[in-house]
Amino acid sequence: MKGIAVLGSTGSIGVSTLDVVGRHPERFRVVALTAHRNAERLAEQCRRFRPAYAVMVDADAADRLSRLLADMPDAPEVLRGAEALVGVAAHEDVDYVMAAIVGAAGLMSSLAAARAGKRLMLANKEALVVAGALLIDAARENGATLLPIDSEHNAIFQCLPPTHEQGLPAVGVERILLTASGGPFRDAPPETLVNVTPEQAVAHPNWSMGRKISVDSATMMNKGLEIIEACWLFNTSPERIQVVVHRQSVIHSMVQYTDGSVLAQLGNPDMRTPIAHAMGWPGRIEAGVAPLDLFAIARLDFEPPAPERFPCLRLAYRAAAEGGTAPVVLNAANEIAVGAFLERHIGFTDIARVVEQTMDLLPAEPVDLSGLDHVLGVDAAARRTAEQRVAALVA
Ligand code: NAD
Ligand code: MG
Repeated sequence: MKGIAVLGSTGSIGVSTLDVVGRHPERFRVVALTAHRNAERLAEQCRRFRPAYAVMVDADAADRLSRLLADMPDAPEVLRGAEALVGVAAHEDVDYVMAAIVGAAGLMSSLAAARAGKRLMLANKEALVVAGALLIDAARENGATLLPIDSEHNAIFQCLPPTHEQGLPAVGVERILLTASGGPFRDAPPETLVNVTPEQAVAHPNWSMGRKISVDSATMMNKGLEIIEACWLFNTSPERIQVVVHRQSVIHSMVQYTDGSVLAQLGNPDMRTPIAHAMGWPGRIEAGVAPLDLFAIARLDFEPPAPERFPCLRLAYRAAAEGGTAPVVLNAANEIAVGAFLERHIGFTDIARVVEQTMDLLPAEPVDLSGLDHVLGVDAAARRTAEQRVAALVA
């Protein structure tokens, strides 16, 4: 029986994780569930999965959750605030941590799980983008098992030999082929993107996901963040990663070897597959995903991405090349810009504008690896700068 903490349990990945957990009551015991402010959904999840702890980051929502659970026998202990996330991620009863909080808000708890030597199932890609060196080092030094949940990285992990910790060149890997659906605007004329609404941007053709990552997929910033994520996870550089637009989202990524072999992982676009892979690893467990029907799919298409249509992809390449704090600034500015777009304060094409202006104003500097303070300081400064750029656009 493995104790599991699901951080961000009310979100898209969190709900899929609990679906897999519910299929294996003899294997997994839920120790903690956490959410930002959706007390109602967290209360339902508590009644079904009976965790020992329920964390609400928002204090008012924590009060609401306590009231909602007042009549529950063996109700979980309700904890509040961001520090409580760190506490449950490192708790001694927890073996596996699903890090499924969106954005840099998930950094501290992801790092806490790595420092505590847990099996860290990482969906929260922003944590790696912001503090990749610290997170990878913490996992290595404390014996944590870091397993990627992002479908592409989970696919790459499955296509690499078990010794991939040495880095890609050591095992005869030529390059990674990172697949991308291209998002909802892969065929839209670039001049029409200025009119895109939040509803259009979050309507992904193949995947059902949270709002932030859906917008990132539409701008292809998501693929840019994934390039940086892959560099940390697989100890490689952007030159060894090729983005391949593959509109069916059946191949989740590939690894090309020096002998000419290309290994791919295929499946229906359903996040329960990578989630179950990480939960069952090194074994395999049932995920509730329909078997792949190749005859129904019939064909697989591949094409290069169009960088002129996706300036955010170019900005992510720039941040990866500049290194240091550049990915921190990229990520923070993107979080602010996407939030402003979803609130209808700025337009879709303003997202790249805000990110680029913020990067221009805050040049990359080397990261101080002695702790998180430097990274968190740069993150906060980039958020302030991006908010000013948003305000200037609105004025
Ligand atoms: P979501 O918006 O559906 O859910 C986010 C979760 O995080 C919710 O439970 C929410 O309560 C919690 N949360 C939000 N802000 C928080 C804060 N400030 N502090 C603490 N908790 C907070 O997002 P999602 O689509 O499930 O994505 C989660 C992460 O997984 C993201 O990093 C995303 O990039 C990554 N990811 C998601 C998918 C997918 O299919 N949804 C695929 C690959 C990677
Ligand atoms: Mg992905």
